[in-house]
Amino acid sequence: MSAGDTGAADTSLPARAGAVLTIDLAAVQANYRRLQERLAPQARCAAVVKADAYGLGAARVGPALARAGAETFFVAQLDEGIAVREALRCVAPEAEILVLNGTGAGPGADFRAHRLIPVLNSLGEIESWQSEAARAGHRLAAALHVDTGMNRLGMPQAELDVLAEDPRRLDGIGLRLTMSHLACAELSRHPMNAEQRAAYDAARGRLPAAPGSLANSSGIFLGPAYHYDLARPGVALYGGNPTPNQRNPMQQVVRLQGKILQAREIDAPQTVGYGATHRAAGPCRLATVAVGYADGYLRSLSNRGRAWVGGQSVPVVGRVSMDLITLDVSAVPPEASRPGALVDLIGPEVPVDDLAEAAGTIGYEILTALGGRYHRVYRNG
Ligand SMILES: *Cc1c(COP(=O)(O)O)cnc(C)c1O
Repeated sequence: MSAGDTGAADTSLPARAGAVLTIDLAAVQANYRRLQERLAPQARCAAVVKADAYGLGAARVGPALARAGAETFFVAQLDEGIAVREALRCVAPEAEILVLNGTGAGPGADFRAHRLIPVLNSLGEIESWQSEAARAGHRLAAALHVDTGMNRLGMPQAELDVLAEDPRRLDGIGLRLTMSHLACAELSRHPMNAEQRAAYDAARGRLPAAPGSLANSSGIFLGPAYHYDLARPGVALYGGNPTPNQRNPMQQVVRLQGKILQAREIDAPQTVGYGATHRAAGPCRLATVAVGYADGYLRSLSNRGRAWVGGQSVPVVGRVSMDLITLDVSAVPPEASRPGALVDLIGPEVPVDDLAEAAGTIGYEILTALGGRYHRVYRNG
């Protein structure tokens, strides 16, 4: 499909839908393989599919990743883990699914029933998982997260000291992984990266031997010293740029096309939208598109977002409202911006990260905010 194509010809937008969200599963798979190829020879690549695979749909994305070779999956919440287990039932029944929020995410019995592995974040969680193992009457697998500077989740240094003194606290637990998480991985020159790596190495030296994991998407690009045994990319799988300020090495996954509902010519001086925040400087052509902040097109894109239609980049003018945005399509031939035509709000010419920057946020937030009203199409499933 050419970039300038409105897409009307080759996406089956039902007459009722205001927008179509196309998710390219082959691109997700290509991204997975590209990351795996980048890793040091000893390291495997997991897939982080929390928050419904960053909004793209874990039920479809999970199996695609398993087919591409992923054997280990990370989610944040217990229910997400249960959903991913179900999604992988046929494709990868033996996949490892780890729950980052730990035993606090829900009852131990539910972890066991769905063969979910908690990432233990404190001595208290270790104890609780030990009790669960006692109830089960056999060892239970777990990962251990040691905090090395995020101060968010993970075992604090003082608790690590206690554990290192008394490794029997892990009796009954089959330690599958020790992990930590980088705070500044996308800033390759940030001193925190090397500091956290050193702290992580020191922590591992005091714990029972287990495979290690430190790198998220951006961490992979810090080099092999950050790869250990398992990498945990999320956003890069979904096309987000793990190397900000450099060319995006990942393939685009998402295309969001909104339908033009109405187009009009106006004569200056006139204003557009709530609050009259945009004033037309001269005669112009406006197109109103059926996507708004209720769909995750953030209100901060008011007078800042850009879309692509008829081979042109066009600005969002006026405020983003709940169900609608308005574009200045003066530069576009009228036949390309007629009612019914589709405009790219995210696409080859409107990368997720560019939209995020215009909104004053990060691609992660754009993806996870994608709304429930889109007609979703999975390509190459
Ligand atoms: C979300 C998350 C990841 C994935 O991060 P990306 O930046 O999306 O690659 C990895 N590890 C942990 C602990 C996370 O919370």
